[in-house]
Amino acid sequence: MKAFQSLEDLLDLQSLDLALDRLLEQRSSLPELQAYRAAHEQAETVARRLAELDDRLRTIGLEVDKANGELELAETKVVQQERRLFAGGMSAKETENLRQDVEMLRRKVGELEDQVLELLEERERLEAERVGVAERLEAARSEESRLSEIIKEAWAKIDAEIARKEERKSAAVQLIPEDLLALYERLREKKEGVAVGRLDESWICGGCHLKLSAAERQEALSEEPPRCPHCRRILVP
Ligand SMILES: [Zn+2]
Repeated sequence: MKAFQSLEDLLDLQSLDLALDRLLEQRSSLPELQAYRAAHEQAETVARRLAELDDRLRTIGLEVDKANGELELAETKVVQQERRLFAGGMSAKETENLRQDVEMLRRKVGELEDQVLELLEERERLEAERVGVAERLEAARSEESRLSEIIKEAWAKIDAEIARKEERKSAAVQLIPEDLLALYERLREKKEGVAVGRLDESWICGGCHLKLSAAERQEALSEEPPRCPHCRRILVP
């Protein structure tokens, strides 16, 4: 039926368009995508913790150096003042002052030693935590890249298929009159992608699957192009 050739071409175009819709849907709903997002988020969280630990460890390093420096100075001072105290030859008041000075310096040495010890303990704790965090980060990153590889591979296949279909589509579009194509595009937007349906031998619309009466069929076929009276899709007799 030469008269309906454009409508047959339209059906071919629609099957390409529907296949493209499915491919795009498939592309954006790969099950690995969600897993990838979760792995990525996990890796980012762990990486942030690792950065925090490294920051704190750097600060501790500086604090230990500073406390050790002060400790060294205080210890030297204690030795000097003790030497003066033991050398004698001072008034009772001077001796008492010096004795108090030595006592104060010894307290300071004690405090600095405690401070260094606390810092070293904190460093040890954080370094132990850092080992675990670094392992978790490596695991999360490798899961992330494993999933990313799977996704890339799947996308490459889908994209190749899309390119093939697009090529066939641009050839198919050439065969269809402009106004019919415009109607088809409008209907596809409104009718979940299905703009055209075959009217089969039992007079059932391939779009909405409702049966046409003899009168409805007659009326549908009198339209240019034929349209289903129920769903208004284009019918291919
Ligand atoms: Zn219909």
